[in-house]
Amino acid sequence: DHTPARRALISVSDKEGIVDFAKRLAAAGVELISTGGTAKALRDAGLKVSDVSDITEFPEMMDGRIKTLHPRVHGGLLALRDDAGHKKSMDDHKIDGIELLVVNLYPFEETVAKGAEFADCIENIDIGGPAMIRAAAKNHRFVGVVTDPSDYETVLGEIEANGALKDETKRQLAAKAFAKTAAYDAAISSWFADQNGDTFPKNYTLAGRLDSVLRYGENPHQDAAFYHSGVSGRPGVATARQLQGKALSYNNLNDTDAAYELIGEFDPAKPAVAIIKHANPCGVATADDIVAAYEEALKCDPVSAFGGIVALNQKLTGGLAEKIVKVFTEVVIAPDADEDAIAIFAAKKNLRLLVAGGIPTPDSTGKIIKPLAGGFLVQSRDAKVIGVDDLKVVTKRKPSEQELADMLFAFKVAKHVKSNAIVYAKNGATVGVGAGQMSRLDSSRIAARKAQDAAEAWGATASLAEASVVASDAFFPFADGLLAAAEAGATAVIQPGGSIRDDDVIAAADEAGLAMVFTGVRHFRH
Ligand code: 5GP
Repeated sequence: DHTPARRALISVSDKEGIVDFAKRLAAAGVELISTGGTAKALRDAGLKVSDVSDITEFPEMMDGRIKTLHPRVHGGLLALRDDAGHKKSMDDHKIDGIELLVVNLYPFEETVAKGAEFADCIENIDIGGPAMIRAAAKNHRFVGVVTDPSDYETVLGEIEANGALKDETKRQLAAKAFAKTAAYDAAISSWFADQNGDTFPKNYTLAGRLDSVLRYGENPHQDAAFYHSGVSGRPGVATARQLQGKALSYNNLNDTDAAYELIGEFDPAKPAVAIIKHANPCGVATADDIVAAYEEALKCDPVSAFGGIVALNQKLTGGLAEKIVKVFTEVVIAPDADEDAIAIFAAKKNLRLLVAGGIPTPDSTGKIIKPLAGGFLVQSRDAKVIGVDDLKVVTKRKPSEQELADMLFAFKVAKHVKSNAIVYAKNGATVGVGAGQMSRLDSSRIAARKAQDAAEAWGATASLAEASVVASDAFFPFADGLLAAAEAGATAVIQPGGSIRDDDVIAAADEAGLAMVFTGVRHFRH
C-alpha cells in the first residue's frame, strides 16, 4: 500500500528539528496540518500550515485538553483507504485522509522529575497525542507514524525519493509508536500508584527505553541490551557519559554499576576508591588523597584487581590516571576527570572512561528488579545506612575510635559484597574480602586467606588482617566464623546480631578478647 504521503499532521511538544523536517516535507509536496504551538513555530519559519481547528471546525479548548480529538482527525487517520464503506464515510462526513502523523507527547516524565505539583503532573498527561499515535499505528498500512525525531531523516529520505513510505518502514514505525505509548502509560501508572501510596499495584509496569543493544550478554551465546528506566537523574551508569574506550559490555555495565553504587556509601568529602571484579569489591579504601586511596584499595587483592573496574568518588586526576594505567583495568567511573587524566587515558584506547557528573546517594529510594523464570521480583533498594548511633556494643571490651571507624567502613563494604559476605578492614581500607560462599565460615576463611596472600605478595611478614576489624553482612549463626576471624588477626567485629546463639557468640568474643558491636540491620545481597 504505497499510499502517497499527501497530508501530514504535526503536533509536537519537543520541537527540536521540527522546522527543518517540515520544510523538507513541504518541499516534497506534503500538505501540513498542525496544532497551536507547532503551527506557530512552523509559520514563524515561513511555512504554509493549516490549523487543526479549521479542519475540525472546533477551536482548541479547555487549555489544550481538546485539540485533535475529533472524527475529522481520527477518521483521517483510521480510515481503510481500500474499503468502500470507509471511503463512503469519508465522503459523507468531509473527512480527508492523513498519511503521515508526527507527534511527540507532553513531557510527563520530565515534569515529574522536576518535582512538579500533583496537578501540574496531571496536566502533563497527553490525551490527544497517544490517541492519534495509536490510531495511526493501527492503520499503519496507510499511515506513517513518526514519534521519534531520530526517525525524521529516514522518513524524509523515502518521501523525497518515492513520495511515500515503504510498507516495511510503516510497520517498524508502528511498533515503535506502540512501545512509546506503552512506556508513557507505564510511567504514568507507576507515578500514580506512588502518589496513592500503592507501592505494589496489581499490574506492575516497567517503562524502559533502549540505550543500546550490546554485543552479547553475560556469555557470548546470550543476546543482551541496556534499557534506561525513568528519568530519576540519579548519577550512575545510566546517566554517565563515556569519554573513551570500546562500547561497554553487559558484564562491564553490571560491574560498573556495582562499583559506583558502592562508592556512593562514603562521605563525598573524603576520597574513596573501589575496585570491582564480577560485581564484588576486591579492594576498597578511603584516604586523605585519591591516589593513596587507590593504592590502598589495590593492595587488598592485586591479583583480582587485574581486569577490574575502578570507581572513585572524586574527580579523576592526572596523578591517579598514571597509576591506573599501570594495571590492566576495564572501566574507570568517576564524577569527573581533569584534562591531564583524559590525556593520559587517551593512550590506552581500550580503557573505558565514564564521567557521571555526581555520585549516587546511598539512601535514595527506588526499586530493584530481579528476573525469575516466568516473572520478576521487585523490592525497594537497600537504602539503609548504618551510623555510629545504630551500634550496640555487646562485649566486655569497647571498640577503640579507630576500630569503630573501620567497622563502619567494613560494614558499608559488606553491604556491597555478595552473601555470605565477610570483610576485613584496617585504617579505612579493606584487607580481605570473602564473597558469595554458602557458609559464613568459608567466607571468613577465604577472606583471611586472601589477607595472607596479599601480605605475601607485598613481602609483608604478618597477614594484612593482623589487628584488623571484621564485618559480616548477616549474623554469625555459630562462633566458628567469628573465631576464624579472630585467628586471622581481627580484634573487633561488626555484625547484625539476632542469632538464637548470640549468647554463645558473644561469650566466644569475650573469651578471645574481641570487641563486638551489633547493627541490628543485615545486608543480604544475592
Ligand atoms: P502544540 O505545541 O502544537 O500546541 O501541542 C502539541 C502537543 O499537543 C503534542 O505533544 C500533542 O501530543 C498534544 N496534543 C495534540 N492533540 C491533543 C489533544 O486533543 N489533547 C491533548 N491533551 N493533547 C493533544
